[in-house]
Amino acid sequence: MSVHSLCFAPHPVLRGKARPVDAFTHEVRRMARDLIETMYAHDGIGLAAPQIGQDVQMFVANPSQRRGKELVIVNPVMDRAQGRATIVEGCLSVPDVWERVRRASHVRMTGQDPFGKPLTINADGLLAIVLQHEFDHLEGRLFIDRLSWFRRQRLRRRLR
Ligand code: ZN
Repeated sequence: MSVHSLCFAPHPVLRGKARPVDAFTHEVRRMARDLIETMYAHDGIGLAAPQIGQDVQMFVANPSQRRGKELVIVNPVMDRAQGRATIVEGCLSVPDVWERVRRASHVRMTGQDPFGKPLTINADGLLAIVLQHEFDHLEGRLFIDRLSWFRRQRLRRRLR
């Protein structure tokens, strides 16, 4: 189990679509544990595999920050997104940027746990936001992509 260093925008691993997991080996479980430890080490409430340089469809989430309450989702599919919620978001891969982002307020996500067992999560509140943010990472999207043109222009110089 180890804490990894983070990848920061504009690192290319953050911009590709991550590869699905097809073999649920102990490597997959180790990556899940590493993601959890790395998330806590950086005081995050979610972390996706591309953020530690792994081109793999896996993320962890834990808005409560309570140990043992972590969610690990492999190969996620968001099959329902309803309502509206706007909250100020940040990202460990985009340091020092905090912006309001519009998201769905309720989502349903299916996927697998690190052993390959199917799971379904119905979420609202902060967990729904974190799930959408982390899911975006696996699609090569960052929260700053969801800002208005004007706000993106304003940030552009800082991100180069
Ligand atoms: Zn992020």
